[in-house]
Amino acid sequence: VSERRRAEQTLADAYDREREASRQLRELDRLKSDFVSTVSHELRTPLTSIKGFAETLVVRWSSIEEDLRRELVQRIATAGLRLDHLISDLLDFTRLERGQLRIELGPRELAPLVGNTLERLGSVLDGHPIELDVPPGLAVVADETALTRILENLLTNASKFAEAGTPIRIAAERSGRGSVVLSVIDRGTGIPTDELERIFDRFYRVGDSMAPGTGIGLAIVKEFVEAQQGRVWAQSTVGEGSVFSVELREAA
Ligand code: ADP
Repeated sequence: VSERRRAEQTLADAYDREREASRQLRELDRLKSDFVSTVSHELRTPLTSIKGFAETLVVRWSSIEEDLRRELVQRIATAGLRLDHLISDLLDFTRLERGQLRIELGPRELAPLVGNTLERLGSVLDGHPIELDVPPGLAVVADETALTRILENLLTNASKFAEAGTPIRIAAERSGRGSVVLSVIDRGTGIPTDELERIFDRFYRVGDSMAPGTGIGLAIVKEFVEAQQGRVWAQSTVGEGSVFSVELREAA
């Protein structure tokens, strides 16, 4: 009898596991189809701006003031940048999913890399004074492209989730355990403590986030950091702001 009970129990456990696995698959399916509609929406928003502003300029070129013309062109450029970043995220994401990420670790000096990233981001960070605290000469073991993409994502988020006018700080310091901690600090909305782990999950977004985004940025950041044998974490206080920290080995 007890033999039969054990067999029945094993069978029941197997059923439970299967039910749980299929529930997880359904959830992932749902997240993926949400993702496709979010991405389509995210692509359409900047495109609509580009089309609208370009048409206005063509039709009313001579009747609008030069200042306004300049501003419209600037907005077209910003929308173009947003599309560019979105597509980089999507490409990184597919490469990660397929295990095609290529990482070349070498010594990289932080200050110039941070400077180049800020230049690449251009008007995305407009409206946020940037406070830089990256000692010259400090270098980490990293892949240049991966580290640039990490910073781009963290800085874009910092500007997205903080009001215009609030500063964004970029700081780097030695940890005292052979590594360097690079932090991006904002004075934005903050993130509830119980969601701090999940924000690094694919597709995860806090609450009903109305800010533009796809929920893959931080998942990409985490994969990139781990591929460089580092770690990433966030600390945050709702209403005060967030600190995203990336720890990488210091280059000798
Ligand atoms: P996305 O920004 O495209 O939504 P991410 O993976 O970059 O996706 O971020 C996931 C979520 O984490 C965001 O939707 C947001 O809710 C939260 N988040 C990320 N960075 C910040 C930040 N600096 N301040 C507040 N919330 C943030």
